[in-house]
Amino acid sequence: MMGGMSKAALHCSAATSVDNLVAFRHSGIHHSASWSRQLVVPARWKNCRALRVHCSASPVTSNPTAPAPASPQTRTQRIMESIPGSAEAGGAGGASSYKALKRMDEMWLKMRSRTPVSGPAPEVVNRRQGKWADSGLAEKSQAVFDVVVCGGTLGVFLATALALRGMKVAIVEKGPLRGRVQDWNVSRKELQELVHAGVLTQDEVEEVISIEFNPSRVAFAGGSELWVTDILNLGVSPAKLIEVSKKRFVSVGGEVVEFTGLSKLDVFDDGAVVSLDNGRALVGRLLLDVMGNASPIVRQIRWGQHPDGVCLVVGACARGFDNNTTSDLIYTHTDVQQVGSSKTQYFWEAFPAGSGPKDRTTYMFSYLDATPTRPSLEQMLEDYWDLMPEYQGVKLEDLEMQRVLFGCFPTYRASPLPSSFDRVLQVGDASGIQSPISFGGFGAITRHLGRLSNGLHDALQADLLDKKNLALLNPYLPNLSGVWMYQRAMSVRLDIESPPDFINNLLSINFKCMERLGDPVVRPFLQDVVQFWPQVRLLTLIMLTKPLFIPQIFRQVGLFPLFDWLRHFVALAMYTVLWLAVARNLRAWVDSQPKESQYVWRRRFEAWQYGSGLDYRP
Ligand SMILES: Cc1cc2nc3c(=O)[nH]c(=O)nc-3n(C[C@H](O)[C@H](O)[C@H](O)COP(=O)(O)OP(=O)(O)OC[C@H]3O[C@@H](n4cnc5c(N)ncnc54)[C@H](O)[C@@H]3O)c2cc1C
Repeated sequence: MMGGMSKAALHCSAATSVDNLVAFRHSGIHHSASWSRQLVVPARWKNCRALRVHCSASPVTSNPTAPAPASPQTRTQRIMESIPGSAEAGGAGGASSYKALKRMDEMWLKMRSRTPVSGPAPEVVNRRQGKWADSGLAEKSQAVFDVVVCGGTLGVFLATALALRGMKVAIVEKGPLRGRVQDWNVSRKELQELVHAGVLTQDEVEEVISIEFNPSRVAFAGGSELWVTDILNLGVSPAKLIEVSKKRFVSVGGEVVEFTGLSKLDVFDDGAVVSLDNGRALVGRLLLDVMGNASPIVRQIRWGQHPDGVCLVVGACARGFDNNTTSDLIYTHTDVQQVGSSKTQYFWEAFPAGSGPKDRTTYMFSYLDATPTRPSLEQMLEDYWDLMPEYQGVKLEDLEMQRVLFGCFPTYRASPLPSSFDRVLQVGDASGIQSPISFGGFGAITRHLGRLSNGLHDALQADLLDKKNLALLNPYLPNLSGVWMYQRAMSVRLDIESPPDFINNLLSINFKCMERLGDPVVRPFLQDVVQFWPQVRLLTLIMLTKPLFIPQIFRQVGLFPLFDWLRHFVALAMYTVLWLAVARNLRAWVDSQPKESQYVWRRRFEAWQYGSGLDYRP
């Protein structure tokens, strides 16, 4: 939090900028005592302007021979470094320091530079023949876990669900097994899935909800405005949620290994040896890779692949918002704009935060392809400091920054990631099962928790842990694959000239038509569930009401992505029919089949159900 003195300084002049103020605080903190003393002279409030001039000039040091301090480079750096650090967590959005931003920007730069990869993929996973006990990689007497879960952020939920079914489970987490301070926004229905899986009790659900609000807005510059209730209207504390889940996990016999990462995995015919950073090794029948987008195993699998799209998000949680009772699920107040040598359409999300009645989180995000001219996260944050006050009708200098947030979500059309190695399965962000237009990975895993814990339980019982059988747990889902086209439609192409308001128009038309069609169309879509009939009705209405807009959409999206989407749309229709008409007639027959066959057919049923969005309950 900003100190009281700084806040008062902020209030003393409407013209005072946070920029100057932060430079001022920064200099005061790090430099001479005399400089610091000047900061506490009460007369400062009367003479604010003079102080401002003073502080933006070169800092005065009491020792002229002392090396001049490095001056902060950007407004983002100054703001971020003025916020006292808080406990960091390992998961996405868990680190909010300037250093962590720079690290992520370096990773994003590499991604978009398209530097061709040279040499073979770094080998984290090795498939070896024979038995693990003969390898000498682990003690022969060592206990064998049914499941070793690597990465505890979302991993703890599935680990607990499996431990509750009597499996012997261990979690390996590189950092502390701790959730971030910043809320996750979810719908109640999604959270309820944790109760169904036994991970939380109903009382614990209420305990982890830090705030509830309604209604939420979906609106676009110069276009439609739609209000909905009970969608993403909860703020959940990941810190509390993971703490409660961890306790439950340990209470049912789960083992947690913290501050130690997986360094190598050797997969044998009868088990996998997980070598850890600390020199120890664990043995498991199955390894769940829940290590997020930066998973070393995913890196090996996707070696040389370029992401098909990226969602960049920046934002902040700040104190000082007087209007703080409603939220925005997606909002724009600008058209496509120039950012450096690129062009971008910025979208917004805003949620009341659980940390205080005037605390609000605002996210600014954009969909892009990973090409060299695209902006860095820091460049986006520089825009955020200008655009957020405009969007929220506040002044930056009236806000007390709690933390700055950022994330980079690469998306691959080939998602979810099928198993590439025996005994290894990706879960959570590592698997790419979340919608490419959402950065709500917690919400996504809750939707699949029941399906995954059933499937993994069956696979372990029947010992079907080869990659072919495990791949059935991350199956092709036509509704998820089709959404990639929406990401494409919402990103600015640099190879064609489109009107700057094209994306806003497209989304306005889309949501106006959705509103006319009502809740059965609006609500699943806003919860990242695409279904066949709602899509058919929506597309028909758009074609009837805005026929002249259709060629523009084709142009924006491009022919190949359009054909690709058409393929998924046909598959969506087929999966809908298969789930509605075929699955129920086969159920009795499947129950009479051998275990292996039952496993395969049940996974097929689930793929039809989830791939057609018919798992969705209003
Ligand atoms: C700014 C921002 C806002 C977000 N807001 C929301 C929201 O409101 N609602 C929502 O549902 N989602 C939200 N998300 C998304 C959500 O945070 C992620 O989807 C979620 O954290 C993904 O969890 P994960 O466990 O799959 O991966 P990660 O969060 O990336 O976690 C990976 C874990 O693996 C560990 N790990 C890494 N390497 C190793 C190793 N070698 N060995 C062992 N462990 C390792 C890491 O320490 C970490 O704990 C947001 C994300 C960001 C960035």
